[in-house]
Amino acid sequence: MRKEILKRFLSVLIITILATAGLFMFTVSVYIRNTTQEDMRMNLLMLDSGLNYEADLQEQIRSLPSTVDAKSARYTIFDSDGKVLADTFLERYDFTENHADRKEFKDAVKKGVGYSNRYSDTIHGEMLYTAISSLRSDCILRIAIPFRGNIEYMNRILPTILLSIFASIVLAYFSAIRLSNKLTKPFQDIVAVMERYQDDPKELKFDQTPYEELNIITDAAINMSESVKEYTKKLEFERMVRQEFFANASHELKTPITSIRGYMELMLGGFTPDEETKREFMNRVLNETEHITTLINDILMISQLESEAYEVPFVDIRMTLLLEDLIASFQPLALQNQIQLICECKPIVVHANMKQIRELISNLLSNAIKYNKPNGKVIITVSSEGGDLKIVVSDTGVGIPEGSQVRIFERFYRVDKGRSRKVGGTGLGLSIVKHIVHYYNGSVQLISKVDEGSTFTCILPKIIV
Ligand code: ADP
Repeated sequence: MRKEILKRFLSVLIITILATAGLFMFTVSVYIRNTTQEDMRMNLLMLDSGLNYEADLQEQIRSLPSTVDAKSARYTIFDSDGKVLADTFLERYDFTENHADRKEFKDAVKKGVGYSNRYSDTIHGEMLYTAISSLRSDCILRIAIPFRGNIEYMNRILPTILLSIFASIVLAYFSAIRLSNKLTKPFQDIVAVMERYQDDPKELKFDQTPYEELNIITDAAINMSESVKEYTKKLEFERMVRQEFFANASHELKTPITSIRGYMELMLGGFTPDEETKREFMNRVLNETEHITTLINDILMISQLESEAYEVPFVDIRMTLLLEDLIASFQPLALQNQIQLICECKPIVVHANMKQIRELISNLLSNAIKYNKPNGKVIITVSSEGGDLKIVVSDTGVGIPEGSQVRIFERFYRVDKGRSRKVGGTGLGLSIVKHIVHYYNGSVQLISKVDEGSTFTCILPKIIV
């Protein structure tokens, strides 16, 4: 960038200097020519006043000194018809030639003074002519000096011009270096900050530059670095959550597997239980494998809910039919725990994913039965509230202490670990509920009192058909 600025700046400057020099030389040469012509006219006026028109004119001009160009100035005197009366270079002159048609002659006759330049056959060279009409006679006086165009005058001032061009370019070169350094300094500062940031990405901070546009860029870079930082933090947090999840899941799986292994080793180690103990062992092993299956299913469900690539087909679901089906499947568990299941469901059709809605209600119903008291009640109400689906599952169970209410939606969090294990809980049910509710941009609310019961209210917006 510095080089480019330097190059542009210098080329513009050199072109300007050369153009100015050319124009200057032209103006000066025109000026010199005009001054020379004026000098020539003055010479002629002086000659006119000094001449004796009665005497021999040829004799008078031969011995004439010139202030214009002593060596090569040529004087000629014509009569009013253009006929030569006298000439400095008489011997070379053709007296028969008439000069009435020469430009300087015609102008002198008409306006009193005339100028021109052209090739002279007499002198054999380019000449500058000035002619005046005499104030003291009818004659026309003319002076001519060699002239090689304006170039002649230009050459006189060329050394000075070249010297000043050289001086200007040297000066311009150093100014250009200073200017380009000044212009590129903010850029270099920004690059330095960014390089430092790469090695130590704590805080990206730029000094304000004198350029508005550059400040916009540095502000954008700061915003971008903030977003990247936040995004990295989010990724780091997600990575930690995942790691924790895998650690917990492995731990959860280890418990039933260790238990199954214990029973098996006991049997293989020569322990011969009676028929009843054997049956009990088998039942326990079966329970543990069931627990493993539930755990794996819950883990799969969570991973599906978290994966954006997973396809979630939507269908129209008749809530009354779904509820009937769920109540029927939970009835045995309810009876086993002496719980009464009450269902109030409005004839609602929703457009959603069947597996997710079923999982959501199942988890809430299962908890309401599992953490209930004998002869307790579970009431499920499904209704529409302002076009949103509202599912309320309320029980008369053990309730949840206030301190745990915010935590029960966390993965693997249990209020009473022993009770959860006993009833086949995985600690993932409410976490799945929260995920599904979020999937539909909904909300879940809990009201609970220890020993009195709990009420879970889920709102799923805009899915009612
Ligand atoms: P779990 O598989 O252990 O039931 P959840 O995520 O479904 O896991 O529930 C987390 C914890 O919240 C449970 O272990 C339980 O202690 C408590 N809990 C959930 N639902 C209820 C409820 N209806 N009544 C009382 N406690 C509940």
